[in-house]
Amino acid sequence: MRGGGAPGARPGAAAALARGYAEGSAHGVAEVYDAYADGLFAYCRMLTGDGRTAAEILHDTVLIVRARADLLDGDAQLRALLYAVARSECMHRGGDHRSSALPQPAAQSCQVRRPGVVVLGFAVRDRGRLLPLIPVALAGVAAAEREALELVVRHGLDEAEAARVLDVSQRRVARLVDGARDQFATCLRVHSVCVHPEQECAELAVLLPGGVASGAAVPEPVDPALRVPAGLHVDSCPSCAPFVPAELAPEADQAGQSGRAVFAATVDALVSTGPPRPAPLSVRAELLRGTGPRAHRDAGHVLGRAVPAQRDGFPRTRRRRFL
Ligand SMILES: [Zn+2]
Repeated sequence: MRGGGAPGARPGAAAALARGYAEGSAHGVAEVYDAYADGLFAYCRMLTGDGRTAAEILHDTVLIVRARADLLDGDAQLRALLYAVARSECMHRGGDHRSSALPQPAAQSCQVRRPGVVVLGFAVRDRGRLLPLIPVALAGVAAAEREALELVVRHGLDEAEAARVLDVSQRRVARLVDGARDQFATCLRVHSVCVHPEQECAELAVLLPGGVASGAAVPEPVDPALRVPAGLHVDSCPSCAPFVPAELAPEADQAGQSGRAVFAATVDALVSTGPPRPAPLSVRAELLRGTGPRAHRDAGHVLGRAVPAQRDGFPRTRRRRFL
């Protein structure tokens, strides 16, 4: 979703939604859905770990934001409001499942998201090995860091938007994303050594009994408590270190500011890899039916049970509850 401009609705989308709400029509709903639903659905899946719940929350999020669109000052905050409402509904209804969200099946992550996006710097052999491991490595990143990384890198939100969504400062967002890159790279280094066919380290097998997978099987994510020791092991063990991809090696981000920038770009390209599971079209149809002139099914109920809004339409959350 990044690079070449993040996708978004046409100018005037917030006003169109507000007008539709005021006149009881579906005005603006389809366009906002088409621009943001895939990303919101993926985000809700990550937060709840469940596709059905994610679909319900996507549906409700559009209804809730539609009812608050008149509080927005133009379109600048529309995407942040959608993500913020989706997040508050996930936390309110489904609890916080971020740390247990299962990675997508590796087969879905083997394709680069968009034509033209390339994972720079990897030999073909390494690239083929690394792509199926990306979702597993992401699952090994701590929940708060992973959420910030996904919002900024996969969903293309800028730091100001992510700060609104997460209800933290922009500086905090930057720190979380930076930490997430390191954790992700560590997990990917560990996994890439674990699954290397020539790797035969008995110590690593003891350290990560579920980490070594053969054939098409995907290894288990690294336990957060073992991320650092496993990372230190593969970086320093004479049997393991030769199998660490050079671009992800710890030295890769220590070559000054430019080295860090290249390292961040490499990680971001990997994290952005893999198509999202598209939002269900049934939700789109249901929304259009439920916002049309003849039906307001569940809309009142949805709005009634939503997390209450502040004056600017953003959810009233207890600050830093989750981060
Ligand atoms: Zn070793």
